[in-house]
Amino acid sequence: MTFLISAAVIAVGAAVWYVGARRAKSRKGELDKSPYHLGLDALIAGDRADAMKHLTQAVRDDPRNADAYVKLGSILRERGQVKQAIQIHRELLVKRRLPAAIRNDTIKSLALDLAAAGRWREVLEHLATLPRSERSDPLALALTRDAYESAGDLDKAAQAHKELLKAGSPEDQPTPGVYRAHLGLVAFRRGDTRRAKAEFQAAVKEDPTAGLAYVYLGDIAVREEDTERAIAYWMKLISEKPDCAQLVFERLEKAYFEMGDFGRMMGIYEELVASSPTNVRALTGLSRMLERKGSVDEALRVAREAVKHQGSTFEGHRQLIQILMRHERYEEAAKAAEPLIAELGDEHKERTCPNCETALDGYGWRCDSCRAWINEC
Ligand SMILES: [Zn+2]
Repeated sequence: MTFLISAAVIAVGAAVWYVGARRAKSRKGELDKSPYHLGLDALIAGDRADAMKHLTQAVRDDPRNADAYVKLGSILRERGQVKQAIQIHRELLVKRRLPAAIRNDTIKSLALDLAAAGRWREVLEHLATLPRSERSDPLALALTRDAYESAGDLDKAAQAHKELLKAGSPEDQPTPGVYRAHLGLVAFRRGDTRRAKAEFQAAVKEDPTAGLAYVYLGDIAVREEDTERAIAYWMKLISEKPDCAQLVFERLEKAYFEMGDFGRMMGIYEELVASSPTNVRALTGLSRMLERKGSVDEALRVAREAVKHQGSTFEGHRQLIQILMRHERYEEAAKAAEPLIAELGDEHKERTCPNCETALDGYGWRCDSCRAWINEC
């Protein structure tokens, strides 16, 4: 009896060993082409569709492969299927006992999902469950900062940004000065003019690349009924960032008009055209001033000059046609419009985010949609 049991045990043992050895052997043979590894390769190569296919197969073959689930969830998020991503990552956290490293990865992935869904309070809650050392990695710090920013807690956002830069953040993060300017815009849009003003003023002192802040400093001065100060800010933008001068042309024209000092505006345009003769916005501005002064032919000459250098928004043509129409020179206007007909129906001409191509709302430092940092000015 004992012998029989021993023999049975040995036989079962041998069978288990045999099956195990075969599996190990076949696994070893397939190692470099298992769906999981093919999925990782595809992720590295940036081929998300391929990665999705292989990783789906990997979790079918081995439902315990938590890392494959984490990565599948993240691909879904990147494809815009945020709800499904949240579901996968949340289930992993709730239903599995994960090794520490994968657990941390899952929490960060879930935080990214929740950020994509704009659920910032939950982002903070989940990041708080990370061990301290993981909370100070750049991804976690950037998410923390954005969460505070969206909650309007600008002090904590600024603090997180400082820590992010200290943590050796990726290069695409803005400098402290530009970030201050961005916070100024956040405050401005929330109606907190005092805070906005303080941030903008500190920003332009700290970092000349935050020059766009002068636009808003001027706007705040206008609200405070200090037109002279507004003009001073806008002129600073023109002198320090001539490439962005067009952002304040309209504002300056209005301010000078209200002050009854339209001639100064003409002078500004003339100076700009003299220093950069291909500046289309300055040319169209000058043309507009000349027309108001009654020098229609001169205005048309300058508008025709603008046409030569105009970009995809056809500012020169618009100006030229408008002047001709206002002076009832319809035939010439129709002729000037001819080259535009071919362009009609062409792709939209609005300003878009270079990262996600969403239309941009106003001038700032960051895309509201994908949160990429942009430098337009
Ligand atoms: Zn974007």
